[in-house]
Amino acid sequence: MDSDTVMSRADELAQFSSTPGALTRTYLSNEHKLAHKTLANWMKEAGLTVWQDSAGNQWGRKVSATPSKPTLIIGSHSDTVVNAGKYDGNLGILLGISALQRLQEVELPFHVDVVAFADEEGTRFDTTLIGSSATAGRFNADWLSITDKQGISMAEAMQSFGLDAERAGLDARQPQDVMAYLEVHIEQGPVLEANNKAVGVVTGIAGAKRYQFRVKGIAGHAGTVPLDMRADAMCGMAHMAVAIEDYAKQNQLVATVGKCELPSGSVNVIPGEVLFTLDIRSQDQEKLEASCEELFVLLNKIAKKRGLRFESHLFYEAEAVPCSESLQELWGTSVELTTKQAPMFLPSGAGHDALAMAHLTDVGMLFVRCEKGISHNPREAVIHEDVAVALDCLTKMITLMAEPNHAII
Ligand SMILES: [Zn+2]
Repeated sequence: MDSDTVMSRADELAQFSSTPGALTRTYLSNEHKLAHKTLANWMKEAGLTVWQDSAGNQWGRKVSATPSKPTLIIGSHSDTVVNAGKYDGNLGILLGISALQRLQEVELPFHVDVVAFADEEGTRFDTTLIGSSATAGRFNADWLSITDKQGISMAEAMQSFGLDAERAGLDARQPQDVMAYLEVHIEQGPVLEANNKAVGVVTGIAGAKRYQFRVKGIAGHAGTVPLDMRADAMCGMAHMAVAIEDYAKQNQLVATVGKCELPSGSVNVIPGEVLFTLDIRSQDQEKLEASCEELFVLLNKIAKKRGLRFESHLFYEAEAVPCSESLQELWGTSVELTTKQAPMFLPSGAGHDALAMAHLTDVGMLFVRCEKGISHNPREAVIHEDVAVALDCLTKMITLMAEPNHAII
């Protein structure tokens, strides 16, 4: 069974780690190089022509005898977070290789590339999507001077990986040469499991904004200042966090207060200052913008009512990316033909390489159910049967794209 191969390769790939007994594989590390070497061997076994690009992405190509169309790219990432699971990113690459192995004897009217993007997580240099950004023509040369925790710059790390930092991103793909980008990824959430589905078609990747908030009140003696004469920054922050949750529920968004700090907190002092963060996401960019504005009015009202000062600073944002409608439809057909069930469509709350690739071409994603939605965790798990379904769906998707009546371009 080809899905057996995918499962055992996921185990084998997880051995390339900087932490014994756990999986941590960061961009341009030695274990990363070894993992790519292994991936390249598997690509060659599938009959693919292999190469490494300027950013360290590992590619394999099923060459078409009569390429009348641009290239279809299938991929995901080979880097991991610290103490990661085995399937985040890696599963998508392995499925791509196995699907092309199955199609080894099938003539397709276009080239198909499978790619292991070298950085998606941003674990080493705190900058995400380096690999796919380089492919999509959005490599930023300023990144080369970013240093890791050991003080090694990205340029130096590239050198020791065998790359020429000066050429990083210069071999970006051109939009006219690319047909579409497909990515299969574990869901990293609990929705497919709750709906009893092995796979689901992704409708789009949510846009996100991240804010740092500061609430300023008046510090005071915990024993002497009556409650109605206080400007307690912590109570204000708590009120705001609950208001954010209520607002998100009412407006079908996800919003999370994930960090909260009392810089000079003490057991007998009324909190004078609190810092906290907000991560807010929606698949609908306009709705995200409008909601943030509405939410700020609400938070300022709470601050005013409590005699507090409220400051905000936006420190990260990513625009929502819809998946191509024709690719969603085709994934739907492929899922229906494979599972004999109506396909489920769902949004992605997490970012993926498809975010960067959307700047280059149309993107289409398929999610695979993972146990309890757990990810970025060694307990990350998928079941064999679901991997078999995902492999069938991806193989079917590629052949559907080759049919003239389903032609994407
Ligand atoms: Zn991932």
